[in-house]
Amino acid sequence: MTEQPVVVCAMCGAGRPEDRSVTTLAWVRETEDGRTRWLCPRCAREHVLDIEGKLPVDYW
Ligand SMILES: [Zn+2]
Repeated sequence: MTEQPVVVCAMCGAGRPEDRSVTTLAWVRETEDGRTRWLCPRCAREHVLDIEGKLPVDYW
């Protein structure tokens, strides 16, 4: 048996559903310092807005 890693939102702690629905595909994976973390669609949206408000455009 192969165990799937549990995907949990790094911001709100919500678990990602295991099906391949649109909701699942909307999750965002980020790699930071070699570690992978996931954000649920709702938090990802808020997170992006947060980033855009703090970092200079040149960052992208
Ligand atoms: Zn979340």
